[in-house]
Amino acid sequence: MSDYMKRIDLKRDYLAHRAEYLKAIEAVCEETAFSGGIYADVFDKEFAAYVGTEYACGVNNGTSALHCAMLALGVGEGDEVIVPANTYIATAWGVTYTGAVPVFADCTRDTWEIDPQDAAKKITSKTKGIIGVHLYGQPFDYAGIRRLADRHGLFVVEDCAQAHGAKFQGKNVGTLGEMGCFSFYPGKNLYAFGEGGSVTCDREEYYSHITRLKNQGCDVRYYHDEVGYNYRLEGIQGAVLSVSLKYLPEWTAKRQKIGKRYLEEITNPLITMQAHPADTEPVFHLFVITVPDRDEFVSYMADANVECSLHYPVPCHLQRAYAHLGYRRGDCPNAEYLSEHCVTLPLFPEMREEEIERVIGLCNAYRG
Ligand SMILES: *Cc1c(COP(=O)(O)O)cnc(C)c1O
Repeated sequence: MSDYMKRIDLKRDYLAHRAEYLKAIEAVCEETAFSGGIYADVFDKEFAAYVGTEYACGVNNGTSALHCAMLALGVGEGDEVIVPANTYIATAWGVTYTGAVPVFADCTRDTWEIDPQDAAKKITSKTKGIIGVHLYGQPFDYAGIRRLADRHGLFVVEDCAQAHGAKFQGKNVGTLGEMGCFSFYPGKNLYAFGEGGSVTCDREEYYSHITRLKNQGCDVRYYHDEVGYNYRLEGIQGAVLSVSLKYLPEWTAKRQKIGKRYLEEITNPLITMQAHPADTEPVFHLFVITVPDRDEFVSYMADANVECSLHYPVPCHLQRAYAHLGYRRGDCPNAEYLSEHCVTLPLFPEMREEEIERVIGLCNAYRG
């Protein structure tokens, strides 16, 4: 079907920069710098410069980035870390892998980001920190979360997996908290040709600890000072990411242009959009809306050959994997409302004018 519109189409980027990507991959092969190595190291430097931190420590995916950040902050058995209920599950995995317990806080009704007031209610004597997520590319209320954390002596880690290049009060995400955790999964705003992730920070202590953790727990080869992991970034991913990083500002500008058009031109009262506070610069990783009858809207779009998706159909606190924590429906009502009413519209940098207009037209013509 020629007019079928995918929610996201990565092939267009590949075709646009094919020669450059393949040349970068070939260079890694020529040097056989496959695991870690020069191309992964060069990307770390470039990514730190882009984000604006002293260090960026490349790892094999965003979930490992979160796991390493928790380990570097000393999180372990007996500890609790507050995370939003409305996020991709991996935010919580990083906590769980250490033996600590994720404690889920609700999101606000309008920004759909972690609610500092609800997070405050979740603090106990076991709480070590808070992971805020810049969800859908929209920065969370860092100032509110930081104030709460400082009052109780807690760390703040940013999950930046969906927000490369977003800004909160003029500052890049990934520079705000103790550490920023990024994912380069295909489909994220900056992505590898496979898996990848990074932890950004200013403190040398965190950087060198994570460098050791991702490298089997050793600083000197075959001398293992602590239990480590094989979480290294692959050379080919580093080389591909160095190419992509050059295009990220252009991609971000395109996402923002499309996101702003949706915000201004979709005027159907049946459709509710995420609130974007004036002191933030979102990067529109996902354009999520809510509608009264979500399933009906998705099939309406599908009938018009437009693919939509759901982020996310089950909030973390109600996932079966966390059934043992004893949460119930009603514990995080805003996150639960979103899980039942959210729909993600197509949005990616290479969208064509007529595709953008088609999405807007269909949304406005929707009668429920
Ligand atoms: C993608 C994502 C992750 C996990 O990253 P992976 O690279 O897939 O392991 C973590 N948190 C959020 C919010 C994400 O969107």
